[in-house]
Amino acid sequence: MGTPRTDLAHVLKRLEGNSYGAYKQLKGEWRVGDFELIVDRVQSDPYAPPSLVRIRVPRRVAGIPGHLMNSAAQRIAAGDFLTRAFGRAARDLGPDGGKGSGGIFVVHVGQEILQRSSVLIDHAAIEVRCEIALPAAGRRIKGRAAQRLLTEVLPSVVKRSLLFRNLDAAAFDRHVRGYLDAEHVRSQLAARALVAFVADGAVLPRASGHRDEPLTDHAVPFESPDNLRVTLTLSDGTEVSGLGVPEGVTVIVGGGYHGKSTLLQALERGVYDHVPRDGRELVITRADAMAVRAEDGRAVRETDVTPFINNLPTGADTRRFSTTNASGSTSQAASITEAVESGATVLLLDEDTCATNLMVRDQRMRALVPGEREPITPFVDRVRALYRDKGVSTVLVTGGSGAFLDVADLVIAMDAYRASDVTARARQVSADIPSGEQTRPTEIFGELREHIPAATSKDDGARGVRAGGRGGERGGYREKPARGRGLGTIQRGREDVDVSALSQLVDPSQTEAIARLLDQIDRTADGRESLNELVDRLMTDVERDGLDVLAHHRGHPGHLALPRRQEVHAAYHRRR
Ligand code: ADP
Ligand code: MG
Repeated sequence: MGTPRTDLAHVLKRLEGNSYGAYKQLKGEWRVGDFELIVDRVQSDPYAPPSLVRIRVPRRVAGIPGHLMNSAAQRIAAGDFLTRAFGRAARDLGPDGGKGSGGIFVVHVGQEILQRSSVLIDHAAIEVRCEIALPAAGRRIKGRAAQRLLTEVLPSVVKRSLLFRNLDAAAFDRHVRGYLDAEHVRSQLAARALVAFVADGAVLPRASGHRDEPLTDHAVPFESPDNLRVTLTLSDGTEVSGLGVPEGVTVIVGGGYHGKSTLLQALERGVYDHVPRDGRELVITRADAMAVRAEDGRAVRETDVTPFINNLPTGADTRRFSTTNASGSTSQAASITEAVESGATVLLLDEDTCATNLMVRDQRMRALVPGEREPITPFVDRVRALYRDKGVSTVLVTGGSGAFLDVADLVIAMDAYRASDVTARARQVSADIPSGEQTRPTEIFGELREHIPAATSKDDGARGVRAGGRGGERGGYREKPARGRGLGTIQRGREDVDVSALSQLVDPSQTEAIARLLDQIDRTADGRESLNELVDRLMTDVERDGLDVLAHHRGHPGHLALPRRQEVHAAYHRRR
C-alpha cells in the first residue's frame, strides 16, 4: 500500500461538471480526517451498481475496548453490532436518494448475529465495506455533492457509528455478551444429551408472518414444564433455566392455533444467535439441526433415498435417485437423507409442511396396498432406527395423526401457548387405543451412499472462469461466477437453483456466500473427496480465514454472511 493521498476534497471539487468516467481517478487510498477511505472499484456510470469502498478506522481512533473484540467470537458479535450502527447512521445522516443519486449503503441485516464480511476487525483497524453511489447530474459529475458526501457526510457517519465514545456502550456490551451467552449455552447441549434449550421467559411468536421481530402484544412468555426444566450456565457462570429438549424422538402435540409451529420455528432459528430483545436470545438449538419439509417440484440429484423409497414402478435406482420434479414424498425423503449425510444430528419437522404419505400409513392402507406394492417406508417406521443407528434425533409437530405417539420418547403438549409433558398420558392412549395406525419399526436405518462431486477439468489452469465453458456437471467452469439473487435463488450461469424452501437460510448474504461456495465445490472437486469432506474443508477455511476468502474484489462485497454446512449441502443438491 502506498501513502494515502490527502487532497480528496480538492480533487472532487475539481471534478465538478466532468464526464462521469473521470470518477475513475478516485480509485486508490485517501486519508479523510482520521480514517482511511479506500476506493476499490468505481462505477462506470450513474446507473451501474454503486462504487465499492472500504473505510478503515485505526483501532486507536475507534477506541473500542478490548473486551468487546479480543476473541474471534467477540469480533463476530462486534462486527455485527458495528454493521448495524453504521447502517443506521448512514440512513440517518446520508442523503436519502436511491442508488442513483448519491448514498452510502451497507448491508441490511435481520435478527440474527452472523459472521459477516461487512465489517472486518483486524489487528490495526476497523474496516467497513460499503457501497457509495457517486453523485451525478445526467452523465456529469456533481463534484461538490461528491465532496460533501465523501468528506463531510461520510466522516460524520463514521464518527457516529465507529467511534466508541459515540456508541451506546451498554447496547454494544449486551450485543457481544448475548452472543457469547448463546454460544456458551449451545456448547453445553451435547454433553447434557440435549438437542435444544428454550429458556423460561423466551418470547417465541413473531410480529407477523413476514416480520421477524417479536410479537409485542399479548405474547405469552415460554415456561418449561417443571419436570423438563434444566439449568445451564451463561458465559459468566450465571445460571439460566428452561426446557431441555432431550435427544431421541420428541413429539409436540396440541390443538390447532395453540403455538406448536411457533415453538418448532423458534427451534429452527435456534441454530443462530439473536440480537438482544429478540425474545429468542436463549432459544438455542444444536448448530447442525435441520428443518426438513416436503418440497414438491424440487430437483434431486443422485440422492440415496432407499431408507424411505424402494421398488419404484419405473425401476429407477433409489440409491441414486434423480429427478427435476420430485413429488412431496420423494422430495422430503431426499431432504431427510441429505440432512443426515450433511451431519445433522437433529431433524425438525412440522406436520403442516410434511408429505403425509411419507410420514405415516394407517392400518387400512397397509391392508389395502400390500407392502411389496408400496415403495414408501413411512418415516414413523424409521424414526427410531434413525436415532439408534445414526444418532439423529427428531422433533416433530403433529396435530392430526397419533401414529408417532407409539415411537416417541417424549410428548410435549402445547395448550394456549403453555407447554406440558404428556408422555405418560400418550403412553396410556397408545395402550388403550392400539394401532389405529400400526407402525412396523425397522431394525436398522441402513448405510447411505454419499455424494462424490465429479472432478472438473482443470487443464487450462485458469482458476475459476474458463472462456467458453458451459454449465453442467462435468467439464468446464461456467462463464460467470454464481451469485445469490435475494434470499431464495442462486443463479449459476443460465440455471437458477431454488433454495427458497430452506427455512433456516435467513439472510441473502448467506445465499450469496453459498453461491460462491458452490463454485468452489466445482473448482476443487477431485472425484474422490465426498461432498461432506469438501464442504467441511471449504467451511473450515471460511471460519478460520474469514469470508474474504470468498470475495471476488478485496473485501467485497460487504454482503456475505456465514451459511451453515447444512444449507450448502442443500443448495448443492438442488442444482438441476
Ligand atoms: P399451531 O401450529 O399450534 O396451529 P401456531 O404456532 O401457528 O399454532 O400459532 C398460532 C398463532 O398464535 C400464531 O399467530 C402465533 O403467532 C400465535 N402465538 C404462538 N405462540 C404464541 C405465544 N406464546 N403468545 C402469543 N401468541 C402466540
Ligand atoms: Mg401449525
